[in-house]
Amino acid sequence: MIERKAFYIGGEWTAPAAGGVTEVRDPATGELVGRTPRGTAEDVDAAVAAARAAFEPWAATPPTERIAVLDRVRDALRARNDELADLISAEMGAPRTFSRGAHVTMAVNNFDAAARAMEEILAEGEETIGSTLVVREPVGVVGAITPWNFPLHQISAKVAPALAAGCTVVLKPSEVAPLSAYALAEIFAEAGLPAGVFNLVGGAGRVVGERIVAHPDVDMVSFTGSTQAGRRIAELAATGLKKVTLELGGKSANILLDDADLAVAVPAAVKQCYANTGQACAALSRLLVPRSLLDEVERRAAEAATAWTVGQPSDPSAKLGPVASPDQQRSVLGFIDSGIAEGARLVLGGPTPPIATGAFVSPTIFSDVTGDMTIAQEEIFGPVLSILPYDTEDEAVRIANSVPYGLSGGVWSTDRDRAVALARRLRTGQVVLNGQPLNLRAPFGGYGQSGLGREYGRYGLEEYFEIKSLQGAG
Ligand code: NAD
Repeated sequence: MIERKAFYIGGEWTAPAAGGVTEVRDPATGELVGRTPRGTAEDVDAAVAAARAAFEPWAATPPTERIAVLDRVRDALRARNDELADLISAEMGAPRTFSRGAHVTMAVNNFDAAARAMEEILAEGEETIGSTLVVREPVGVVGAITPWNFPLHQISAKVAPALAAGCTVVLKPSEVAPLSAYALAEIFAEAGLPAGVFNLVGGAGRVVGERIVAHPDVDMVSFTGSTQAGRRIAELAATGLKKVTLELGGKSANILLDDADLAVAVPAAVKQCYANTGQACAALSRLLVPRSLLDEVERRAAEAATAWTVGQPSDPSAKLGPVASPDQQRSVLGFIDSGIAEGARLVLGGPTPPIATGAFVSPTIFSDVTGDMTIAQEEIFGPVLSILPYDTEDEAVRIANSVPYGLSGGVWSTDRDRAVALARRLRTGQVVLNGQPLNLRAPFGGYGQSGLGREYGRYGLEEYFEIKSLQGAG
């Protein structure tokens, strides 16, 4: 059991201003795996003051030195891959083979991508427009608020570019999975990050999160989480007219065209929905299929899904762990019940958990899903795939675009030009053609209610700058 009793503020492990503890439980067993302090507005105020005091010196630190710190953090994360991955599995239930193979690697890649993007900016030099020099300056103190689904990756997607740009940070990780954030604070200290540049305060979104967003000395809020919380954050940030980036929910469509290679596409499409036990904002949770191919796709999908063995996170053969918490399990099972009640046809799985104890959900597939059903409109965030038949490509595009979200999408076709033409019609921030792996240097973000702004690589880094025109300096 990991017992954390202090926040990381101004380079010191600092006892919280008031009592309160968040218990972290292994969702596979319910066992207590950690205790972290639950902060208050006072802790946030102390962290923001530390971040403010550290801002000018960090912004003035030569970017090459900032990059060197990020590279040391990247190397330390890589060196501690298995230990951090096992911590993540314990706090949110990802199978260890997946957390060891993906969760920490993504964080490593985010640190590397932010450092390389900063080098690119330095190599380009500053722009002149006529007699004006255009310069980038760090936004200031950044409040970062993150979810539990890829806890370390989501933190690094914000903190790495913020630090590269010269901003200082106050982080509030998810109260469901906060343990890896504490390990990251230790890594920052070991890597020689100056005191106050990175600060960590844990606790409830409504208390600690809202204080970060509303604090007058926080210049920018970078949030990843649900659309509901994102909306509240945008409202609070509006008072101070703060810069906000929001990475929110999704209900992304994977469109199978009639020339797709089904033997490859269908198992991959199942993976694009089930990876991380379906708890990915960009999960392709709606599979749109030509009506003439429906029977064959259902059969292949059910067959592919049987390879997604449910098991304890420590079991090397498990590809699906529990979902992150009993609350999450209740929510996912509720969506499965709604699918049945609204007339979708259950092809596989259903509302009975495959393992009686722990927050497990059976890999589930619905077919004959129509666009108006709850399971076709709302983010489920669990291993539930909805298959929707379509008759024409225009109809497929209409269905794909008929949700309030616009995060991601997929197209499967053996004709690249046809796939690209269709992908351009989807109102989403990214579209994955033929199962390409996620590129953490390419921009990622949402249209519509999936958010504002972009993360990853050069585009993600640019969010952390203000742009200043120096007239007459060019
Ligand atoms: P959540 O919105 O409940 O919580 C996310 C974070 O926000 C947590 O740290 C929480 O404490 C905090 N928070 C909650 N209410 C707040 C408020 N009023 N003010 C300030 N902070 C507040 O989300 P979650 O359940 O942790 O994560 C799942 C959600 O995150 C899903 O909807 C998923 O799609 C989304 N998500 C999006 C992306 C993306 O990049 N677009 C990535 C991962 C997850």
